[in-house]
Amino acid sequence: MEQQFVNEMEKRLKELKASILDLLAKENEAFSDILNDNGPKDSVDVASGDIDKQLLSVIGKNDLSRLKKIESALSRIKNERYGKCLDCGKKISVERLEAIPYAFFCISCESKRDKRR
Ligand SMILES: [Zn+2]
Repeated sequence: MEQQFVNEMEKRLKELKASILDLLAKENEAFSDILNDNGPKDSVDVASGDIDKQLLSVIGKNDLSRLKKIESALSRIKNERYGKCLDCGKKISVERLEAIPYAFFCISCESKRDKRR
């Protein structure tokens, strides 16, 4: 995986996360209260740690799971494991990562998982 590409994906993931948080804060007063209660911390850092439970009570499961995916993609970038399929360990294609920066599975594993569902 090229470092430049990973940097680009990291930037996109952070933007994506910030925009979800912004949208939620606009839609949901309780959510923006939680953000404000947690001090002047950069909103990008919110949604990790202790406040997960608080967040889950005000935002839907879907939004929270999307945030979690983004979060863990970001930590995989830190651990230099970004772009590897969690299932088979092969590289996830660049095209796929561009479409879904927080994809964890390569296309063939993802479609196997879809079939199992
Ligand atoms: Zn795979």
